[in-house]
Amino acid sequence: MSDKSNNIQRALKRARHYFFLNPYEDMAFTRCPKCDGKTKIRKHCLVIHIDPKHLFSLNKICRYCPNCDLIIVKQAELEGLLAAICEEYEPDIVGNEYFVFGTMDRKDWKEGQTGKISQQEGIKRSYPFKEVWKFEVRPGGWYPAKQARS
Ligand SMILES: [Zn+2]
Repeated sequence: MSDKSNNIQRALKRARHYFFLNPYEDMAFTRCPKCDGKTKIRKHCLVIHIDPKHLFSLNKICRYCPNCDLIIVKQAELEGLLAAICEEYEPDIVGNEYFVFGTMDRKDWKEGQTGKISQQEGIKRSYPFKEVWKFEVRPGGWYPAKQARS
């Protein structure tokens, strides 16, 4: 097996949680979009990759469904926090493409409290998501027909 596929195998073994980046500013997802159970509010240390090659960790309050092991994060909130961190540490990369890679343990996050962590160390310590899910909310579906805008 090549080194690369070995690394992928190892990463998958460490995979934790499912993830949903919520693009809807007005949807709090107090109920899980998958199982309709009540979501809880829980802090998670998110690991975020920002192009071209920056890794940040963020201890953030998220919505969490314990049934589905699903973490839900509001995109607008996340981007606001990322912009603030980047302005402080890496102003050049504000607005770059990013993706939320996974989570890390709180104790590991605490060691590198500045937010910025080295690529190698960060990857080694973080747990990739099992899968990233997307949910679509169809605007028409949320209104009784007679209230729908014409
Ligand atoms: Zn659920």
